[in-house]
Amino acid sequence: MNETIFKAWNFPVEQMFLAAGPCSAESEDQVLETARALAGHGVGFMRAGIWKPRTRPGSFEGVGLKGLAWMDHARSETGLKIGTEVADSSHVEACLEYGLDVLWIGARTSTNPFSVQAIADALKGTDIPVLVKNPMSADIGLWIGAIERLANAGLTKLGAIHRGFSSSLEMRYRNAPNWKLPIELKRRMPEIPMICDPSHICGKAHLISTIAQEAMDLLFDGLMVEVHPDPPNALSDAEQQLTPDQFFSMIDGLDLPREESESTVFMDRMSELREGVDELDSRLLELLGQRMNIVREMGLLKTKQNVSTLQPHRWQEIIEDRVRKGGDLNLSGDFVLQLMQSIHEEAIRQQEVDRLRGAD
Ligand code: PEP
Ligand code: MN
Repeated sequence: MNETIFKAWNFPVEQMFLAAGPCSAESEDQVLETARALAGHGVGFMRAGIWKPRTRPGSFEGVGLKGLAWMDHARSETGLKIGTEVADSSHVEACLEYGLDVLWIGARTSTNPFSVQAIADALKGTDIPVLVKNPMSADIGLWIGAIERLANAGLTKLGAIHRGFSSSLEMRYRNAPNWKLPIELKRRMPEIPMICDPSHICGKAHLISTIAQEAMDLLFDGLMVEVHPDPPNALSDAEQQLTPDQFFSMIDGLDLPREESESTVFMDRMSELREGVDELDSRLLELLGQRMNIVREMGLLKTKQNVSTLQPHRWQEIIEDRVRKGGDLNLSGDFVLQLMQSIHEEAIRQQEVDRLRGAD
């Protein structure tokens, strides 16, 4: 975890960077009560949604501009920094007028390059920190593109928030964590701090600590958590909000791993194990290359016989057999299925290339 960036942006950081606050600002009392409970514990900024993008009309859509005045009041009383979600240029203008300390772009907005560009244009000439939530769908290009649009507008204090991805397959969480995407974003843009929003991933308060711990284990740079003084009566996202007490005890319960250790025993054993992994990865790749060569030969035979590339029965048998064998080796069915699908996709791609070459 690297909190130095947030310190450089002038946000308070104790053990880790923390953003906390209600899903939505609901009343001046609620905003002040939350701010009082959060102040003085190293929270980087208090969050509260003012304009709420709801999936369907008719639910609570936020209090609008007056919420900014409440947050401003909470900031002057407690010294907490404040941030909210912006979805269009009028939101940006209002937030700049109130001197908000940080803005974020929500998942529904980062999905739309037109909206992101309009926000970037409205922010030109400022250097307010902006955090970009991942888009709704697991599309890393859109996420990176949104960050690039802001960078191209001259903003330098940019961060990313991982809030999970909508998925018809996910049962346990409201939004599938799909950790490989934030990890890949971090690999491609190492200078962008990555915050996890376990509240929107989980959708349920009791799951939040597990996802928060996982984010710490993956060296995320901080957390954004929904905290409300009276979660059951919250006007939005009631099931996933923690009380301030629950929030602080959840944070206290987290283990904060380091990236490296000075222990030579540990380092020696780790480098032995890493060599083992490197060796196995090379063998895996060689085997995959060999498998691909066989499949290509099969492809050429199929072309000669005018037989289709996809053989649904054979494919069904392979999947069932490999998932079963994987199960014996303690590999989850989902993992084996995804692995086989990727291998199959590459095999079909290579067969198609050969087929086109043959047609030349
Ligand atoms: C929120 O932070 O309250 C919010 C609406 O989140 P998301 O954009 O991740 O759905
Ligand atoms: Mn919310």
